[in-house]
Amino acid sequence: MAKLTYYGHAAFELVIDDRKVLIDPWLTNPKSPVKPSDVKDVDLVLVTHSHFDHVGDSVEILAGNPNARLVAVYEVADMIAGELAKKLGTSKDELFNAGRVIGANIGGPVNLQDLGLKVAFTPATHSGVGVAAGVVVIGKEGRVYHAGDTGVTMDMRLVGEIYKPHIALLPIGGHFTMDPVEAAKAVELVRPLVAIPMHYGTFPVLYGKPEDFKKRVEDKCLPTKVVILNPGESYEFDYS
Ligand SMILES: [Zn+2]
Repeated sequence: MAKLTYYGHAAFELVIDDRKVLIDPWLTNPKSPVKPSDVKDVDLVLVTHSHFDHVGDSVEILAGNPNARLVAVYEVADMIAGELAKKLGTSKDELFNAGRVIGANIGGPVNLQDLGLKVAFTPATHSGVGVAAGVVVIGKEGRVYHAGDTGVTMDMRLVGEIYKPHIALLPIGGHFTMDPVEAAKAVELVRPLVAIPMHYGTFPVLYGKPEDFKKRVEDKCLPTKVVILNPGESYEFDYS
Protein backbone atom coordinates (compact mmCIF):
# COMPACT_ATOMS: atom_id res chain seq x y z
CA MET A 1 0.00 0.00 0.00
CA ALA A 2 1.38 3.40 -0.98
CA LYS A 3 0.82 6.41 1.25
CA LEU A 4 0.76 10.09 0.37
CA THR A 5 0.99 12.57 3.26
CA TYR A 6 0.39 16.31 2.94
CA TYR A 7 2.71 18.62 4.88
CA GLY A 8 1.06 21.88 3.85
CA HIS A 9 1.71 24.27 0.92
CA ALA A 10 3.15 22.10 -1.92
CA ALA A 11 5.03 19.63 0.31
CA PHE A 12 4.20 15.93 0.17
CA GLU A 13 5.73 12.73 1.43
CA LEU A 14 5.04 9.79 -0.85
CA VAL A 15 5.86 6.28 0.30
CA ILE A 16 5.58 4.13 -2.81
CA ASP A 17 7.02 0.68 -3.58
CA ASP A 18 8.65 0.90 -0.12
CA ARG A 19 10.58 4.03 -1.10
CA LYS A 20 10.19 7.39 0.60
CA VAL A 21 9.94 10.37 -1.72
CA LEU A 22 9.63 14.01 -0.62
CA ILE A 23 8.28 16.51 -3.13
CA ASP A 24 8.87 20.27 -2.70
CA PRO A 25 9.78 19.76 0.95
CA TRP A 26 9.24 23.16 2.53
CA LEU A 27 8.63 21.61 5.94
CA THR A 28 9.09 24.90 7.78
CA ASN A 29 5.95 26.30 6.14
CA PRO A 30 3.42 27.80 8.59
CA LYS A 31 1.03 24.82 8.19
CA SER A 32 3.54 21.98 8.39
CA PRO A 33 3.07 19.49 11.24
CA VAL A 34 6.68 18.23 10.92
CA LYS A 35 10.19 19.64 11.04
CA PRO A 36 12.92 18.80 8.51
CA SER A 37 14.72 16.78 11.21
CA ASP A 38 11.58 14.62 11.71
CA VAL A 39 11.84 12.99 8.29
CA LYS A 40 14.05 9.91 8.26
CA ASP A 41 15.00 7.23 5.73
CA VAL A 42 14.34 9.46 2.74
CA ASP A 43 15.27 7.88 -0.61
CA LEU A 44 14.44 10.68 -2.98
CA VAL A 45 13.86 14.45 -2.92
CA LEU A 46 12.12 16.02 -5.92
CA VAL A 47 11.97 19.79 -6.40
CA THR A 48 9.73 21.24 -9.12
CA HIS A 49 11.34 24.69 -9.33
CA SER A 50 13.70 27.15 -7.69
CA HIS A 51 11.33 29.25 -5.57
CA PHE A 52 11.97 29.17 -1.80
CA ASP A 53 8.58 27.69 -0.99
CA HIS A 54 9.42 24.64 -3.13
CA VAL A 55 13.16 24.14 -2.62
CA GLY A 56 12.24 24.55 1.02
CA ASP A 57 14.36 22.48 3.38
CA SER A 58 15.87 20.23 0.69
CA VAL A 59 19.45 20.96 1.75
CA GLU A 60 18.87 20.10 5.40
CA ILE A 61 16.91 16.96 4.47
CA LEU A 62 19.57 15.78 2.01
CA ALA A 63 22.29 16.45 4.57
CA GLY A 64 20.39 14.55 7.26
CA ASN A 65 19.54 11.57 5.05
CA PRO A 66 22.80 10.26 3.57
CA ASN A 67 21.04 7.82 1.25
CA ALA A 68 18.69 10.43 -0.17
CA ARG A 69 19.28 11.77 -3.65
CA LEU A 70 17.91 14.84 -5.34
CA VAL A 71 16.40 14.95 -8.80
CA ALA A 72 15.43 18.31 -10.30
CA VAL A 73 15.75 20.27 -13.54
CA TYR A 74 19.50 20.72 -14.06
CA GLU A 75 19.81 24.40 -13.05
CA VAL A 76 17.72 23.83 -9.92
CA ALA A 77 19.75 20.71 -9.06
CA ASP A 78 22.96 22.70 -9.57
CA MET A 79 21.71 25.50 -7.28
CA ILE A 80 20.78 23.09 -4.47
CA ALA A 81 23.99 21.07 -4.99
CA GLY A 82 25.98 24.25 -4.36
CA GLU A 83 24.29 24.77 -0.98
CA LEU A 84 24.54 21.09 -0.06
CA ALA A 85 28.23 20.96 -0.99
CA LYS A 86 28.90 23.91 1.32
CA LYS A 87 27.00 22.24 4.16
CA LEU A 88 28.80 18.90 3.72
CA GLY A 89 32.22 20.39 3.00
CA THR A 90 32.46 18.79 -0.42
CA SER A 91 32.11 19.96 -4.02
CA LYS A 92 29.18 20.10 -6.40
CA ASP A 93 31.05 17.82 -8.81
CA GLU A 94 31.44 15.16 -6.16
CA LEU A 95 27.73 15.26 -5.40
CA PHE A 96 26.86 14.89 -9.10
CA ASN A 97 29.51 12.19 -9.65
CA ALA A 98 28.29 10.23 -6.64
CA GLY A 99 24.72 10.38 -7.96
CA ARG A 100 23.45 12.21 -4.89
CA VAL A 101 22.28 15.00 -7.14
CA ILE A 102 20.81 14.25 -10.55
CA GLY A 103 20.09 16.99 -13.07
CA ALA A 104 17.19 16.25 -15.39
CA ASN A 105 14.79 18.17 -17.59
CA ILE A 106 11.35 18.14 -19.15
CA GLY A 107 11.22 15.15 -21.47
CA GLY A 108 11.15 11.42 -20.96
CA PRO A 109 11.29 9.71 -17.58
CA VAL A 110 14.48 9.46 -15.56
CA ASN A 111 15.12 5.84 -14.60
CA LEU A 112 16.07 5.40 -10.96
CA GLN A 113 16.73 1.71 -11.40
CA ASP A 114 17.98 0.89 -7.91
CA LEU A 115 14.87 2.49 -6.41
CA GLY A 116 12.57 0.82 -8.95
CA LEU A 117 10.99 4.19 -9.70
CA LYS A 118 10.87 6.57 -12.65
CA VAL A 119 10.28 10.31 -12.48
CA ALA A 120 9.20 12.45 -15.41
CA PHE A 121 9.33 16.25 -15.39
CA THR A 122 6.43 17.94 -17.15
CA PRO A 123 5.78 21.45 -18.45
CA ALA A 124 4.60 24.13 -16.02
CA THR A 125 3.77 27.71 -16.98
CA HIS A 126 5.69 29.49 -14.24
CA SER A 127 9.04 31.23 -13.59
CA GLY A 128 12.27 30.32 -11.85
CA VAL A 129 15.90 29.35 -12.38
CA GLY A 130 16.24 27.10 -15.43
CA VAL A 131 12.68 26.11 -16.12
CA ALA A 132 9.80 25.46 -13.74
CA ALA A 133 8.25 22.01 -14.02
CA GLY A 134 5.80 19.52 -12.64
CA VAL A 135 6.80 15.94 -11.93
CA VAL A 136 5.21 12.51 -12.27
CA VAL A 137 6.40 9.73 -9.97
CA ILE A 138 5.94 6.38 -11.66
CA GLY A 139 5.91 3.30 -9.44
CA LYS A 140 4.30 -0.13 -9.41
CA GLU A 141 1.73 0.98 -6.85
CA GLY A 142 0.64 3.97 -8.90
CA ARG A 143 1.50 7.16 -10.73
CA VAL A 144 1.36 10.52 -8.96
CA TYR A 145 1.50 13.87 -10.78
CA HIS A 146 2.63 16.91 -8.76
CA ALA A 147 1.88 19.88 -11.03
CA GLY A 148 4.33 22.25 -9.28
CA ASP A 149 3.36 25.90 -9.55
CA THR A 150 1.58 26.44 -12.82
CA GLY A 151 -1.22 28.06 -14.71
CA VAL A 152 -3.56 25.76 -16.56
CA THR A 153 -2.06 24.62 -19.85
CA MET A 154 -3.09 22.29 -22.67
CA ASP A 155 0.12 20.37 -21.96
CA MET A 156 -1.77 18.85 -19.04
CA ARG A 157 -3.77 16.88 -21.55
CA LEU A 158 -0.54 15.26 -22.75
CA VAL A 159 0.47 14.54 -19.16
CA GLY A 160 -2.86 12.76 -18.76
CA GLU A 161 -2.59 10.87 -22.04
CA ILE A 162 1.03 9.80 -21.69
CA TYR A 163 1.46 9.15 -17.96
CA LYS A 164 -2.15 8.44 -16.96
CA PRO A 165 -1.60 9.62 -13.39
CA HIS A 166 -3.89 8.01 -10.84
CA ILE A 167 -3.47 10.97 -8.51
CA ALA A 168 -2.96 14.64 -9.42
CA LEU A 169 -1.74 17.20 -6.88
CA LEU A 170 -2.87 20.58 -8.16
CA PRO A 171 -2.24 24.14 -6.94
CA ILE A 172 -5.50 26.03 -6.34
CA GLY A 173 -4.49 29.14 -4.38
CA GLY A 174 -4.47 31.61 -7.27
CA HIS A 175 -2.27 34.74 -7.59
CA PHE A 176 0.91 32.73 -8.45
CA THR A 177 -0.81 29.62 -9.80
CA MET A 178 -4.17 28.27 -10.90
CA ASP A 179 -7.12 29.04 -8.68
CA PRO A 180 -10.13 26.70 -8.32
CA VAL A 181 -11.51 27.71 -11.74
CA GLU A 182 -8.33 26.83 -13.67
CA ALA A 183 -7.54 23.86 -11.43
CA ALA A 184 -10.97 22.32 -12.16
CA LYS A 185 -10.15 22.73 -15.87
CA ALA A 186 -6.81 21.02 -15.21
CA VAL A 187 -8.67 18.04 -13.76
CA GLU A 188 -10.69 17.86 -16.97
CA LEU A 189 -7.44 17.81 -18.99
CA VAL A 190 -5.46 15.37 -16.82
CA ARG A 191 -8.36 13.05 -15.90
CA PRO A 192 -6.87 11.52 -12.76
CA LEU A 193 -8.85 9.17 -10.50
CA VAL A 194 -8.06 11.41 -7.53
CA ALA A 195 -7.29 15.13 -7.38
CA ILE A 196 -5.77 16.65 -4.25
CA PRO A 197 -5.61 20.45 -3.91
CA MET A 198 -2.42 22.14 -2.68
CA HIS A 199 -0.72 25.56 -2.55
CA TYR A 200 -3.54 27.34 -0.70
CA GLY A 201 -4.06 28.87 2.73
CA THR A 202 -0.34 29.36 3.44
CA PHE A 203 -0.31 33.12 2.82
CA PRO A 204 -3.29 35.52 2.80
CA VAL A 205 -2.71 36.20 -0.92
CA LEU A 206 -3.52 32.55 -1.79
CA TYR A 207 -7.30 32.99 -1.83
CA GLY A 208 -8.42 29.70 -3.47
CA LYS A 209 -10.47 27.42 -1.23
CA PRO A 210 -10.38 23.61 -1.48
CA GLU A 211 -14.17 23.29 -1.01
CA ASP A 212 -14.68 25.62 -3.99
CA PHE A 213 -12.32 23.46 -6.07
CA LYS A 214 -14.15 20.30 -5.02
CA LYS A 215 -17.53 21.74 -5.99
CA ARG A 216 -16.27 22.94 -9.38
CA VAL A 217 -14.84 19.49 -10.18
CA GLU A 218 -18.05 17.78 -9.04
CA ASP A 219 -20.10 20.14 -11.24
CA LYS A 220 -18.17 18.84 -14.26
CA CYS A 221 -19.40 15.26 -13.60
CA LEU A 222 -15.93 13.79 -14.15
CA PRO A 223 -14.90 10.38 -12.77
CA THR A 224 -12.37 12.16 -10.55
CA LYS A 225 -12.74 12.16 -6.79
CA VAL A 226 -11.46 15.27 -4.98
CA VAL A 227 -9.71 14.44 -1.72
CA ILE A 228 -8.94 17.36 0.58
CA LEU A 229 -6.05 16.61 2.92
CA ASN A 230 -5.38 18.76 5.95
CA PRO A 231 -1.67 19.11 6.75
CA GLY A 232 -0.57 15.87 8.41
CA GLU A 233 -3.32 13.78 6.78
CA SER A 234 -2.61 10.91 4.37
CA TYR A 235 -4.24 9.17 1.45
CA GLU A 236 -3.47 5.48 0.93
CA PHE A 237 -3.67 3.76 -2.43
CA ASP A 238 -2.55 0.74 -4.41
CA TYR A 239 -3.22 0.75 -8.15
CA SER A 240 -0.85 -2.14 -8.92
ZN1 LIG B 1 6.79 29.23 -7.63
